[in-house]
Amino acid sequence: MSNNKNLGTKYIHAGAHPDPSTGAIMTPIFQTSTFVQSAPGVHQGYEYARSQNPTRFALEEAFAVIENGKYGLAFASGVAATDAVMRLLVPGDEVIAAHDMYGGTYRLFSKVYEKMNITFRYVDTSNAEHVANAITPKTKLIWIETPTNPLMNITDIAAVAAIGKMHNCIVCVDNTFASPYLQNPLDDGATIVMHSATKYLGGHSDVIQGCLVMNDSELRDQLYFIQKSTGAVPGPQDCFLVLRGIKTLHVRMQRHCENGIKVAAYLRQHPKVSKVYWCGFEDHPNHAVAKKQMRGFGGMMSFTLKDDSIEAATKVLSSTKIFSLAESLGGVESLINHPASMTHASIPRDIRIANGLTDGLIRLSVGIEDVDDIIADLAQAIG
Ligand SMILES: *Cc1c(COP(=O)(O)O)cnc(C)c1O
Repeated sequence: MSNNKNLGTKYIHAGAHPDPSTGAIMTPIFQTSTFVQSAPGVHQGYEYARSQNPTRFALEEAFAVIENGKYGLAFASGVAATDAVMRLLVPGDEVIAAHDMYGGTYRLFSKVYEKMNITFRYVDTSNAEHVANAITPKTKLIWIETPTNPLMNITDIAAVAAIGKMHNCIVCVDNTFASPYLQNPLDDGATIVMHSATKYLGGHSDVIQGCLVMNDSELRDQLYFIQKSTGAVPGPQDCFLVLRGIKTLHVRMQRHCENGIKVAAYLRQHPKVSKVYWCGFEDHPNHAVAKKQMRGFGGMMSFTLKDDSIEAATKVLSSTKIFSLAESLGGVESLINHPASMTHASIPRDIRIANGLTDGLIRLSVGIEDVDDIIADLAQAIG
């Protein structure tokens, strides 16, 4: 596993410059829509806040720093960031996408972009050969998510990035589940890394936001043009919250990882649990790849009960006291979720089941509370 030395120093100082007008150590929340010009076209680099906002620019710099990229862009949500990437395409283009990715990404692709004559081929990207076999001369984008949501499948980023490079395709990695603390896809050759900053980057379940990071300046210019032309920018207050969240990402992630190891081990030995999906287990089918490209395994996991019915799952989901039943993940507090009826309800049932996402599957976002309390809560809920 690659080392995580000095990540803390990097996160605390990413994008941080004392405010030039006052010396304020924290970037102020520039709650303004416009900027005064001294003569037409004479200004300080800021004209109108959809195009330029100092709080957003500080955050965009931080995004680039924490993902080892050159350029960061912030969006009003993770989905808006994904949408911006899709707008690089034209009718007739083809996309290869992971077959078990985030439900909202699938909905955007299948319900919004399919009717614009973009063709999607959904494959099991954990096998890079499947990606290579799905490429056609029209393929322009390969969209992967690793670990996947909620089955924790792992895709070899370097292998897929190499395939993309060979065929001149953009390879975009949704890095939301791992966070930059565990994995940096640009280092493995990806073209773009995307995050729902709503999750681990914000870290406190109090903001909706998305980001893109890339190294290519031409691509950055295209995506910046899309950002300002389509207007899905985050407000300055939200940018401030994510800037603040990033400063503790390493401390939170350390604890998410420690708690994740213990909770996964607890569930695995539980007599009522049939299967635990967590990429840290040595017998996880993609464990070797996870170990190669990640620095740890995080706090996301899913499990099924031996009684894989909606009724049995519902009992667990409604009985937890520390875990709150809610969509989303990556906050300091533990969340429990039922993908079939919540986050992944937009995926047709037959497709869901074929991909292994059963009616009884339960997903956990293990928070950073005291792990004994987390485990005791699961114990009483599973019974
Ligand atoms: C939440 C999430 C998204 C969408 O992000 P929003 O901020 O909710 O728009 C995309 N991908 C993954 C993996 C997510 O968990």
